[in-house]
Amino acid sequence: MNAVAPGTGHSFATPLLAWFDRHGRKNLPWQTDRAPYRVWVSEIMLQQTQVATVIPYFNAFMQRFPDVAALASAPLDEVLHHWSGLGYYARARHLHGAARIVVKRHGGEFPRSLEAVMKLPGIGRSTAGAILALACNARQPILDGNVKRVLARYFGIDGFPGEPATSHKLWALADACTPAERVADYTQAIMDLGATVCVRRRPLCSACPLMQACAARIAGRQDQLPAARPRRARRSQKTCMLLAIRDGECVLLERRPPQGIWGGLWGLPEFASSDAARDWCIRELRAHQATAQPLGTLRHTFTHFDLDIEPVRIDCDGAQGVMESERYVWYSPAAPLALGIAAPVMALIEAALPLPLAGEYRPQTHSPGDVGVGGGEGDAA
Ligand code: SF4
Repeated sequence: MNAVAPGTGHSFATPLLAWFDRHGRKNLPWQTDRAPYRVWVSEIMLQQTQVATVIPYFNAFMQRFPDVAALASAPLDEVLHHWSGLGYYARARHLHGAARIVVKRHGGEFPRSLEAVMKLPGIGRSTAGAILALACNARQPILDGNVKRVLARYFGIDGFPGEPATSHKLWALADACTPAERVADYTQAIMDLGATVCVRRRPLCSACPLMQACAARIAGRQDQLPAARPRRARRSQKTCMLLAIRDGECVLLERRPPQGIWGGLWGLPEFASSDAARDWCIRELRAHQATAQPLGTLRHTFTHFDLDIEPVRIDCDGAQGVMESERYVWYSPAAPLALGIAAPVMALIEAALPLPLAGEYRPQTHSPGDVGVGGGEGDAA
């Protein structure tokens, strides 16, 4: 492996910045106005999610929540609604909580010290560094997934980056490579290189400004670095989701607990079996003519496990609106409330109650990463 020697940063950053001047992305919505709030929101949205997917969400989010005060004063439900379909909903909950802290403790000004930024919910070391570097040109290293890949390959670092010893080495290299000047451009450059050239599979080494000294390219080890996460047995879980339909036009939604998958979003009530769902409808909804119609099982893939969903439709004739509360709501796709609903749940609702919904911006149409159960930056659920 290449050592972190004096001059490492210069020989790494100089060709990278020259490449950025020619090929880097400079006109993304959060680049044209680099206010810390905008950069912050973009960095949170970009965790686990690709730029092309983020752009329409970012623009809609900025229209509704143009500054930190607007975000802090909004109800969480509305924030989750604007996040619906982006996935990893803990990001939205943390963003909202952090906005309230910025208003309350920092007078609405995004803090400028790494320590203060890292104290905000949902912001780890790399995201804090990226926000300060991109918005304030502060010399802070970053180490997101793209940067880990570039550094592990260029310096020939073995070991899974999630292991503390490997992570420690990569942070040291990230710091050594970050220049004292043009920090914002350098930060964008290394992220762009990882996203567009030094990609996970088949990196475009012949187009890479770092190819001359790249350890992985010289040794032909691009597909071995960075090392993969050690394999763990994959779990699967089963659940029966109830589509309780009232009058053929409303479906009962239940607010999910704040922690866990789709935390804080609205979802379908879950049961161990369709019989249990039917009994519940009769007991709680007074739906005496409830007839259960099992729908096909579908598998939803999360980061660490698979969820096998058995949807069951129960037309609750005679059901009354007795359940409306903080916890339950009857939801009509024809007159939708601004609620955060995970994309797979929305797909089930739309299949059960198909109605034309054209002509409206619908965040639910994307579900690239609506998966996962937490853990680290970009944590899910
Ligand atoms: Fe990545 Fe290839 Fe560039 Fe090395 S030469 S940093 S492997 S794209």
